[in-house]
Amino acid sequence: SKAKLFDENTDVKTSFRDVAGLEGAKEEVQEIVDFLKNPEKYTKLGGKIPKGALLVGPPGTGKTLLAKAVAGEAKVPFFSLSGSDFVEMFVGVGASRVRDLFKQAKEKSPAIIFIDEIDAIGRARGKNNFSGSNDERENTLNQLLTEMDGFGTNTNVIVLAATNRADVLDKALMRAGRFDRQIFVDLPDINERKEIFEVHLRPIKKSDDLDIDFLSRQTPGFSGADIANVCNEAALIAARNGKKAVDKQDFLDAVDRIIGGLEKKNKIVT
Ligand code: ATP
Repeated sequence: SKAKLFDENTDVKTSFRDVAGLEGAKEEVQEIVDFLKNPEKYTKLGGKIPKGALLVGPPGTGKTLLAKAVAGEAKVPFFSLSGSDFVEMFVGVGASRVRDLFKQAKEKSPAIIFIDEIDAIGRARGKNNFSGSNDERENTLNQLLTEMDGFGTNTNVIVLAATNRADVLDKALMRAGRFDRQIFVDLPDINERKEIFEVHLRPIKKSDDLDIDFLSRQTPGFSGADIANVCNEAALIAARNGKKAVDKQDFLDAVDRIIGGLEKKNKIVT
């Protein structure tokens, strides 16, 4: 079987409306949308459009969602891959796959390339040399750096990468002309959780007793992904109980269930 190297989405429907909270991050990526939509406006004054930005933050906070929304807002193709798949699935061919990816994106430019979990390929070189596949990873990383350096000023491909461990990344990645911008994507505060609930409650048949303020207060520490899970889980619980709408109790049960899941996950990690 032929493993998929990367996903290509030429008709991204995600927009900033789907991304709740994250006002600062949205403002920063709005600039990237403008570069992609109207590059000449910037280059004709001699400016260089950035080649890459790093989205940094805990799991499930909307990094992938935000990157996709950039492509959706700019109406450009979205090429995506995950660093961990890359290292696991493409032993021996990582570098050539990176070359293919950039070639495709350049042909379809303007475009976004999104690399999730870039730490899997972008860890500082020469450390943790016990994995055996380290040469492979280094070759892949070197190819990525080469590709980014090779972009001309008018290539019009912007590479977004996500990580929750910016501290382990090879400093070479952050050098000027590579991922020289960092955009922080944090866990939502109570007001942002409210906004995230609003987004994920949109498709749900809600009972009149549902109170978004209450739900946001019940979910400290939850990421956007956790909240999306709560909403879906609540709908499934309500359906299982033969209800016509999803009510407060279904949400409380869903919150308990998600907290249970999070506790289990944390136990495994520590
Ligand atoms: P990871 O680091 O685990 O890859 P991530 O930061 O890329 O996580 P996403 O994959 O973007 O997180 O989020 C998963 C899902 O959680 C999204 O598809 C969306 O449904 C929901 N979600 C996360 N953050 C938000 C947000 N700010 N607004 C609305 N939905 C969100």
